[in-house]
Amino acid sequence: MSQNSVKITFPDGNVREYPQGVTPLQIAESISQRLAQEVLSATVDGKVTDLAMPIERDASVKLHKWEDPEGRATFWHTSSHLLAEALESLYPGIKFGIGPSIESGFYYDVDSPVPITEADLPKIEKKMEELARTKEPLVRREVSKAEAMRIFSEKGDQYKTELIGDLQDGTITFYTNGCFTDLCRGPHLPNTGLIKAIKLTSVAGAYWRGNEKNKMLTRIYGVAFPKKSMLDEHLAMLEEAKKRDHRKLGKELELFMFSPRVGQGLPMWLPKGAALRERLQNFLQSVQKKYGYEQVITPHIGMKDLYVTSGHYAKYGKDSFQPIRTPDENEEFLLKPMNCPHHCEIYRHKPRSYRDLPLRFAEFGTVYRYEQSGELHGLTRVRGFTQDDAHLFVRPDQLLEEFEKVIDIVLYIFKTLKFEDFIAQVSLRDPANKEKYIGSDENWEKAERAIIEAAEHKGLKTVVELGEAAFYGPKLDFMVKDALGRKWQLGTIQVDYNLPERFDLTYTGADDQPHRPIMIHRAPFGSMERFVAVLLEHTGGKFPLWLTPQQVVVLPISEKFNDYAQSVSKFLNNSDIRAEVDCRNEKIGRKIRDNELKRVPFLLIVGEKEEAEGTVSVRMQGEGDKGTMKREEFAAYLADLVKKEVEA
Ligand SMILES: [Zn+2]
Ligand SMILES: [Zn+2]
Repeated sequence: MSQNSVKITFPDGNVREYPQGVTPLQIAESISQRLAQEVLSATVDGKVTDLAMPIERDASVKLHKWEDPEGRATFWHTSSHLLAEALESLYPGIKFGIGPSIESGFYYDVDSPVPITEADLPKIEKKMEELARTKEPLVRREVSKAEAMRIFSEKGDQYKTELIGDLQDGTITFYTNGCFTDLCRGPHLPNTGLIKAIKLTSVAGAYWRGNEKNKMLTRIYGVAFPKKSMLDEHLAMLEEAKKRDHRKLGKELELFMFSPRVGQGLPMWLPKGAALRERLQNFLQSVQKKYGYEQVITPHIGMKDLYVTSGHYAKYGKDSFQPIRTPDENEEFLLKPMNCPHHCEIYRHKPRSYRDLPLRFAEFGTVYRYEQSGELHGLTRVRGFTQDDAHLFVRPDQLLEEFEKVIDIVLYIFKTLKFEDFIAQVSLRDPANKEKYIGSDENWEKAERAIIEAAEHKGLKTVVELGEAAFYGPKLDFMVKDALGRKWQLGTIQVDYNLPERFDLTYTGADDQPHRPIMIHRAPFGSMERFVAVLLEHTGGKFPLWLTPQQVVVLPISEKFNDYAQSVSKFLNNSDIRAEVDCRNEKIGRKIRDNELKRVPFLLIVGEKEEAEGTVSVRMQGEGDKGTMKREEFAAYLADLVKKEVEA
């Protein structure tokens, strides 16, 4: 045989031989025509590439379809090139920043000679659809740095020339679709014809390279699909998401508010929201008590030096709230950006022995971090928030067991609050860049092994991300999928060798020598603010019974029964049930409807018969009529439901 062959290894371990120079698309064709039609990009030896990229040597190959994140990313990123092509034909002279794929769709940042607003989006969409129908191939070309510079200088696109300036000669590629050529490393779809349904969703301002000092560009967001029906489904999901927006629900349910006079990004909890948050805190606190946590309380500010010692000041100081000064010129305080340094000081306040460990200090600690005003969003991106924080100080031989126990707490919380779909991301060191991290190889290996083992023991569904660890240690992050399939990062568990070193924390070992404890940072909710936001969007405001602000509303059929309704409500309140009376002068049908809209789980209707018998007529949200019960009977029934919800 004159031609050389290459060995291709598939994800399932199968190996097949192909002629040298075979492309991922040809590999797909060799498997089935159907696969060849569905495949969007491929990972060859760990690198995502175009389907037309020839494979010259033995390699591992994974083909990506729409179902794979890599496949969707290729699809959406290619859609951004299509958007750019449409924009260039509609707005001659327009300049381009960057156009990546994102979690759900894509965007392109542009500098347009005429303003582009949301009113222009349908026109741009139509142009994109028209261009997609011509099935333009995306043609890759390698160019020298000098040539790349020349082409974009002639075009007058200063953003691209700035990007090229940062690139190394010999690594630069252009891609062309139709009349549009972009600086891009790829990969892309083979042609734009695969993009069958497009929706441009919004327009926003975005600083070039995310820097406030640079020019504000126009960011056009969009999403695209290989089938029209998928776009329809997606739009229906967005509609539902709007209804569940926690900012909207927070207002309707009177949970929290913002005031421009207090300041952007500083939420205030209204009585119902504060009570809800307190229930969540009590719930977590009682779990933590069982696991041997001790509650501590620390101030909202700390000396600047504390954060110099911890290293936070060097890392975040410039981009955070600036120091608070006192009349004493030499004194500077920082708003607390994290609780860890305070907890280290608590550890240090007396000598510790190996018998004292593990120590577990917990605090609902409010911290303040500066975020740009454009980044703020409801309760999910704020400038002041309360972490359900705790720091565990453990001996090396306790690390695995303690880590597993923290996972148990997280799993219990997710189960009780009905987050059934989640994965745990194991974030490890980038083995190729070890100098980015502090601590010895031995410690890192031990900690990484402990996290992986703990996750395995607990049967967690995990993904491993290299290079995603914190500089001070590896971590485990929990990503939950909500009822609409959106992903949220909630809890985190992190191993830390750094702070014990910086604060010179020690304990006396059995050998009478000083040893360093290891720190575990953990926050199962993440923060109270973020957690309540995600819970609102996940449940659409229908909280579990044990948590919901209003468990019961008593509805008198007419004013005549207001007194009886009040007595029922008082009776329930005395049994620790959150009940109110709706004594508005409205028809009973209207009262039922209004309270069902407010997502009250139980409505108790009372009239002449109920008053005479000391009973209530029970209506349950989503289930309707549950018949008549004695009020004591109802109280016991509800208490039992609550108990079942929070049972471990
Ligand atoms: Zn590209
Ligand atoms: Zn911490």
